This record gives sequence, C-alpha cells and structure tokens, in this order.
Amino acid sequence: MKPFTYVRPADGAEASSLAAKNNQARFLGGGTNLVDLMRQNVETPAELLDVTGLRANIEITASGGLLVGSAVRNSTLAAHPHVRQHFPVLSRALLSGASAQIRNMATVGGNIMQRTRCAYFYDVAGARCNKRNPGSGCDAIGGFTRYHAVLGASGHCIATHPSDMCVALAALDATVHTAGPDGKRSVPIIEFHLLPGEHPEVETVLRPGELITAVEISASAMAARSEYRKVRDRSSYAFALVSVAAAINMAQGQIADVRIALGGVAAKPWRAARAEEILRGKKASKEQFLDAAESELAAARPLEGNRFKIGLAKRTIAAVLGDLAGDAA
Ligand code: SF4
Repeated sequence: MKPFTYVRPADGAEASSLAAKNNQARFLGGGTNLVDLMRQNVETPAELLDVTGLRANIEITASGGLLVGSAVRNSTLAAHPHVRQHFPVLSRALLSGASAQIRNMATVGGNIMQRTRCAYFYDVAGARCNKRNPGSGCDAIGGFTRYHAVLGASGHCIATHPSDMCVALAALDATVHTAGPDGKRSVPIIEFHLLPGEHPEVETVLRPGELITAVEISASAMAARSEYRKVRDRSSYAFALVSVAAAINMAQGQIADVRIALGGVAAKPWRAARAEEILRGKKASKEQFLDAAESELAAARPLEGNRFKIGLAKRTIAAVLGDLAGDAA
C-alpha cells in the first residue's frame, strides 16, 4: 500500500476545504471499500480525511421522515425503530448487505460512494479497465459477465453499482445533501450516480471537495408497505445478481401508486419508472406485474453471461409486488 497521511478534520467545512486543495485526498468513512481498494492499489490517495466523527445522528423530521447523517453506521440505521416500522425496505436492504461486521463499520455516506466490485476493476496488474485507467479498454466485455449490467451500460463499461441501501433509497425518492466549496446542495438519489457513457471514471455528480453530509427521506404511507428482495449466489456476504426495492399504495384493489427500483443490473440504482407508469391505476394481478416488468426490461442489452438477469429481474419484480399487494393481487 502506498504511504498516505491521515487527518481528522474538525468539521465538514474543514474536510471539504482540505479535499478541495488536494485532488489526491479521499474522504474516509468506515473504510470497508476504500481500504480494500488501497490494498489492491486501485486507489492510491496521498491523504485520508476521516469524516466518521461528523454527522453521526439520525433525526426524525416533524412530518415523520428521516434525516440521516452521513457518518451513521449501516447497522445503526437498519436497527432504528422508526426505520424498521416506517421504512422497512431500507432496513431490509441494509441487512442484506455484506456481513454484520462490515455493517457495523460501514457508514451511510461511504455506502453511497462505494465503487463497483467488477473483478477486472480490481485486477490492476492483469486487466484493462476504462474506469480505473480511462481509454485503456474494458476486459469485462467479452469476459466473465455474470455480475455485470444489463441496463444503461455502454461500450466503455458494463459495471454495476454494488449498494443495496441505494436501491432502497431510490425507491423512497431520497435526497442526498452535500456541502462543498460552492456551498450546500441537495441531489435526488436517482440523479446522484451516473451511467458510464464514454466516461465510466466519473461515477457521481459530486464536485471536487464536496462531501455528503446527510440523506433525507420524506415520510409517506407507501413507505410503510415496502419490501427489499435480493437474489444472490449465496445467502450471505454476496452482491446482488438482481435486487428489487418496492413500495405500493393500494386503494380498492387498484394500485394507487407504486415505486420500484432495481439493483445488480446497472451502474446506478435503476428506478423502474416505465413499470411504475404502467401499473398506476391498474388492478393488481400477477399478469399485470409481469407485463410491467416486461416493459421495463425491454431496454435491457445483456451479454451472454448475464442474459439470465432479464428473466430473474422480471420474476423478482412480480413476486415482490405480488407480496406487497397481498390479497388484492
Ligand atoms: Fe472497468 Fe467497467 Fe470494464 Fe469493469 S466493466 S473492467 S469497471 S470498464
């Protein structure tokens, strides 16, 4: 590992000021991804700015929503009684991620900023990777693609985003609050991560020195009727092949409103807006759910090794929505 300096900024302003002055600096949360990347020489920061002492609180807003500090640990958020009762999709997504030990270390901000687990991205000595070394090529294309994207990929990168939590946040229409040299910003989570296009090395809308300070989730009756389901190669400590976060609001057997987000299929949490649009105002039924899923996945462009994800995603969407609709479906 390359030597680096370690700094604990006193507050967010100092943290972003130090980061803005040094493009070799990185914010350090729980370190559960960044330290791995440093061990593999994928990331070689000259300075680590430890932000785990900043914003580690969970506030319940006046309307019953959540304002979650970026340094809150994943396990703390998953176990919070208000989260479990009013936002079950978030609690379940968090609990499906990694292992108990990692969840105890990982922070909310770090979870959002974690990088792809594409094996070629980590193979510094042996693989070409446009994300790690722009313009060098992508050895995943034509390689082992079981864990790669079927939606929103490009000819430059087919990596997926590994977070479970972010898929739940996408279904909940969460907002990411940031602070940086240009002031404070609020970015919808579904606009926070970027598809690869021609520049897979640019993964988020964050600007130099900008720090995630909190995540806000509005209260909604729908969020209480929500679910997260993750399909993976083993029952623990594995990334999603496909995951589905969904929330539904039923009225007299009809779908008054619905939110669906997919994980394991794209470089960002994939909001299934087309499926949602088809389902609003319709009677709940297994056929209707499959039709909506079919429409959403029509845009998929699989490779040989991940073609199975299309059928898997359709069936998982239909199963989760069926469970949420209950007797109405
Ligand atoms: Fe790199 Fe993306 Fe290709 Fe993986 S899929 S090797 S991260 S460019």
